[in-house]
Amino acid sequence: KAKADGRSTYHFFEPGMDAELQQRRAIEAGLRSALAKGELRLVYQPLLGLAENRVTCVEALLRWDHEGRTISPVEFIPVAEETGLIVPIGEWVLREACKAAAAWPGNVRVAVNLSAIQFKNRDLVAMVESALTDAELSPTRLELEITESLLLAENEQILKTLHALRTLGVRISMDDFGTGYSSLSYLRSFPFDKIKIDRSFMRDLTKRSDSLAIIKAVIGLGQSLGMSTTAEGIETQEQLDLMRAHGCDEVQGFLFSPPLVPPALEKLLGTDQAKKLTVIKRAS
Ligand code: C2E
Ligand code: MG
Ligand code: MG
Ligand code: MG
Repeated sequence: KAKADGRSTYHFFEPGMDAELQQRRAIEAGLRSALAKGELRLVYQPLLGLAENRVTCVEALLRWDHEGRTISPVEFIPVAEETGLIVPIGEWVLREACKAAAAWPGNVRVAVNLSAIQFKNRDLVAMVESALTDAELSPTRLELEITESLLLAENEQILKTLHALRTLGVRISMDDFGTGYSSLSYLRSFPFDKIKIDRSFMRDLTKRSDSLAIIKAVIGLGQSLGMSTTAEGIETQEQLDLMRAHGCDEVQGFLFSPPLVPPALEKLLGTDQAKKLTVIKRAS
């Protein structure tokens, strides 16, 4: 049935597709001016070192406040990647995260997510170096997280860039491990500092014994290869106990803390290290 408002003339797509396409265009249009309008901000999720029993690292996660709601990166990062907007946005994220981390107490590291598109930019290494210098942050306090899809082409240029970043003193983490096609072969292509085991494995942990078998194997693999392991998506005490029992180095998840706004994070990092675990538990 055609609607009488004239808009029906646009319906050469399936209705669902039409809505999806329109939403994409709206995101794209809004995203173009998001940086200039100051609509982007970072939230910070602490990662806990199990041996250290303290916050060892904090992951910076992007949020977009647009027209009265907060849009998830899951919705807008793909659009930012398609349009190339991820390049200026990614630079803003890195500079902002380095500046924030420079003010944190102790030697807590900051983790920043990088998109594959950012690696196409020849200036990436110089940009990272300049962000560190401007923020007066030691390179050893920066971790860059990349996903397996990044290396899909086993691209020489990307590997050279990763080595150059490593030479700066920056750590490189493989994010969402276990979700791609050839996770194992990527571990051979570059000596990552850290493997972040995808949270889909945690979700199944108590329901499926094969998930635990895979997690144990990845932790063992990390130990053999000299890469530390982080479990993503820890939501229950049971999951935490299993990770501890099997020698996982670090955990991240809602059990301890969701991503926090900067004042909440600073408060958390400012509290007595010994009390940290309890404090975070109460906050979640
Ligand atoms: P990611 O890098 O794997 O980040 C972890 C995501 O898992 C975050 O979602 C975080 O809020 C969520 N998470 C953490 N703990 C738990 C938990 O216990 N349970 C559940 N269910 N979720 C948990 P968020 O913030 O929505 O980010 C989603 C993805 O968007 C990120 O996944 C990352 O791939 C991407 N992203 C976020 N910020 C940036 C950025 O600045 N640049 C780029 N290129 N990508 C980003
Ligand atoms: Mg990440
Ligand atoms: Mg991840
Ligand atoms: Mg993820």
